[in-house]
Amino acid sequence: MNFSLSSVLAIALLAASASLQAQTNMKPSDTEYYSPVPPTVTINNGIPSDATILFDGKDLSKWKGEKGKADWIVANNILEVKPGSGTIQTNENFTDFQLHIEWKSPEVIKGEGQGRGNSGIFLQGLYEIQVLDNVNNPTYVNGGAGSLYKQRPPLAQVIAPDKWHTYDIIYKAPQFNKDSLLISKGTVTVLHNGVVVQNNTQIDGTTEYIGLPKIVSHGPGPIILQDHGNPVQFRNIWIRKL
Ligand code: MG
Repeated sequence: MNFSLSSVLAIALLAASASLQAQTNMKPSDTEYYSPVPPTVTINNGIPSDATILFDGKDLSKWKGEKGKADWIVANNILEVKPGSGTIQTNENFTDFQLHIEWKSPEVIKGEGQGRGNSGIFLQGLYEIQVLDNVNNPTYVNGGAGSLYKQRPPLAQVIAPDKWHTYDIIYKAPQFNKDSLLISKGTVTVLHNGVVVQNNTQIDGTTEYIGLPKIVSHGPGPIILQDHGNPVQFRNIWIRKL
């Protein structure tokens, strides 16, 4: 059967007017529903009640090291990278989440560019949100603090008000089909000291120091904190599964 352009248009107009008619006949309650009821969350000392606390200042019981026990320094409610000891990672694996983490560059300014106050937060162990001293420390922009390392620069370079920085990271994992083909890219939103620096950024693939990101099929993964040889500090780390 052959439809002319005008008959197609006429059908579309009829459908639109029918839908408009249906809309006019609707009551407010026709588009309101009551279940499921969202869970109640309360906030205690800034931490949502449904969060898993990954570091509360006391110990590294939620973490392990590259070679066994997590061997970073815990003192005065602060976690500090022990240079040379390797990365640490959560015991638990995660998929989609909201992560809160606070960090501070070393007091003693040493090195420059990528060599100064470098650490990082690897989402599902594969995608790095960069941690770097960003005060008078020029480097490639897609390697600065708040960058999705080597992929996207931050939208702004945000200086910490009191040297402690906060990252609030909202992450949606990439999805793969049963043949391990990517069907939707991962995305990440990052608020750096409350300022949006990654806005629903699409993740092209794994963080690579040399070469292009790789697409690797994977399931849930840990949060990894990077040992880049600098005594960067962390505190108040919590996560909410989404
Ligand atoms: Mg890094």
